[in-house]
Amino acid sequence: MALIVQKYGGTSVGDVERIQRVAQRVATTRRQGHDVVVVVSAMSGETNRLTALAQEISPRPDPRELDVLLSTGEQVTIALLAMALQAQGQPARSFTGAQVRILTDAAHTKARIQAIDQAPIREQLTQGRVVVVAGFQGVDENGNITTLGRGGSDTTAVALAAALGADECQIYTDVDGVYTTDPRVEPKARRLDSVTYEEMLEMASLGAKVLQIRSVEFASKYNVPLRVLSSFEDGPGTLITSEDQVMEKPLISGIAFNRDEAKLTVMGVPDQPGVASRILGPIGQANIEVDMIIQNVGADGTTDFTFTVHRNDYPRALEVLRGVAESLGAREISGDDRIVKVSLVGVGMRSHAGIAGRMFDALAKEGINIRMISTSEIKISVVVDEKYLELAVRTLHEAFELEKAPAQLT
Ligand code: ASP
Ligand code: MG
Repeated sequence: MALIVQKYGGTSVGDVERIQRVAQRVATTRRQGHDVVVVVSAMSGETNRLTALAQEISPRPDPRELDVLLSTGEQVTIALLAMALQAQGQPARSFTGAQVRILTDAAHTKARIQAIDQAPIREQLTQGRVVVVAGFQGVDENGNITTLGRGGSDTTAVALAAALGADECQIYTDVDGVYTTDPRVEPKARRLDSVTYEEMLEMASLGAKVLQIRSVEFASKYNVPLRVLSSFEDGPGTLITSEDQVMEKPLISGIAFNRDEAKLTVMGVPDQPGVASRILGPIGQANIEVDMIIQNVGADGTTDFTFTVHRNDYPRALEVLRGVAESLGAREISGDDRIVKVSLVGVGMRSHAGIAGRMFDALAKEGINIRMISTSEIKISVVVDEKYLELAVRTLHEAFELEKAPAQLT
């Protein structure tokens, strides 16, 4: 008998019929002899609807009140699911975040979980009940309702699994797992049986939006086996786990990409200490996040400096740079907001040379010009013109034979 935490997202509980289907799945797991704790999101669209209501009253609503409002979405689904379970003869009880005491800090709308009292949940499980917990919410030490940020139910589920020492945390969603890349771009994309936490973090942060990034960080920190599955069809899904637990060890696990990129270049700045900080300082002060950074080798006492930002921040970043250009002694400021980032991700890279060469060669054969390159231990990213995104992803998918089940690395 295992203890399993199951989390169902907004589309999985989008209407009464779907809630009943979730109840069936939970009851089946229960009948197999497992203890089950279920975490649910609000019905799909509900959190957006509530946010829009608040916006109608104030462009900047009081964060404390916003949390009181947003937490109601999940309160609806826990009650309905508990009822549906009971209607199927499965004893169940619902709990809000405050009731199970998911203690968080006081940072409204982006609170962090600090502690979970597992005793009340254990007690319910001992009595044979399924415990249904509201995702995305908690309570601070003064009893204020808090929420964990969009997509936060994933984090609730993982945190509960960690606190309870669950055997697995299953995230049921509208896709049947994590793919080698977005199947809308490359129809030959393949579902991965397993992927490491580290790879998932790289893929999530690069736009493979299956899980809230923080939930993966949490799972990695507490070594919680995390499985992404479809709530609409049966299947093994994708197991996200630590490197020593992953059976297949492919060279490359996936190709992530990000369409929302823009790059800015400051040309002809003096090649002197302090220049990078004088460029990026004001960008940071304007609250603009910087991703890649490249500085050229200096020539004639000057150098060029290029970095990328989120496309939404592009106009403001350009404005900031123009404001400081003169004091920097820069020759010219230029930029491009029609670029994308494509990244190869795989822990196998660590032990195998030549991946970058193979990547650049494949892109070159298709005439795709690489505008920027950056690497980390398990990732190689290139910036290319927006129009090449699909071609680049498909080319790399083929070059690294990702449509095939991976050969075992020795
Ligand atoms: N309902 C929240 C949202 O839509 C939390 C979640 O679904 O994970 O972001
Ligand atoms: Mg979600």
